[in-house]
Amino acid sequence: MTELRKLPPESVLLVTLDSLRYDTAVRATCSSLSRLGPPIRAMAPAHFTFASHAAMWVGTTPGVPGLKQPFLDPKWGRLFRLVNGKVRATPRDGFLLPGRSIIDGFGQLGYRTVGTGAVDWFDPGTPTGAWLCQDFQRFFYPQTPSALGSQLAWLSKELTTGDAPAFCFLNAGETHVPYWHEGASWSPGENPCVPYGQTNSRALCESRQRSCLEFIEARLAPLLDAFSEATILVTADHGDCWGEDGLWEHGTWHAKTMEVPLWLQVRGQRVTGPEAAP
Ligand SMILES: [Zn+2]
Repeated sequence: MTELRKLPPESVLLVTLDSLRYDTAVRATCSSLSRLGPPIRAMAPAHFTFASHAAMWVGTTPGVPGLKQPFLDPKWGRLFRLVNGKVRATPRDGFLLPGRSIIDGFGQLGYRTVGTGAVDWFDPGTPTGAWLCQDFQRFFYPQTPSALGSQLAWLSKELTTGDAPAFCFLNAGETHVPYWHEGASWSPGENPCVPYGQTNSRALCESRQRSCLEFIEARLAPLLDAFSEATILVTADHGDCWGEDGLWEHGTWHAKTMEVPLWLQVRGQRVTGPEAAP
């Protein structure tokens, strides 16, 4: 990704590292994300892509239940609050947005709204994908889940036009099963995490998802630099199970499909969370 100019401080970057487990984020060596501090252990709003993003689109971002800290506990104070005739803002809320989704709301406030989603749920050729993408002014679906390079190249172009603040969304698919990234030494055809599979490997899940995270985050630096004075939320839409209680992958309720890492800065200020869980 080429160097980007700084975005205005009212801009917002939302990154979902699809299926990324909290413990993977803790174990990984993160050269770029570490500027946002260690990952905070949060709970996703749902255990699969569509539901979790649909929830985030209306302001229910992953959070720490009961924390009573704005933005990290959306029940206490929302980073993105949709306001309308029924719902009012509280003094603890971050961005107050009109409309039917936070994307629509940012658009109504004059933002450029650009997004790219790698996993199949974002395919605009399907009715559900079209629904998830509908409020972005510009959206890129790369047709393959491990496409970070083309997604970052597309965003780089989109973010160089105009002077308006931006709401920028990136869903990266490398951390989703089968945990493969461009240039990896293993085949994308090998999936160590098949629901109800008999030949799954927790060790491969751990090492490959970690490699995929490190691959992604090393390439995020230009994007994080561009939003360094703005708001950045990096998280996952859900986790994965790796054999806990006999379960594999996501799309089913379990503490491990709900547990996600979260990094946050608001208008250039890093937000720190509670002490990391042992
Ligand atoms: Zn997902």
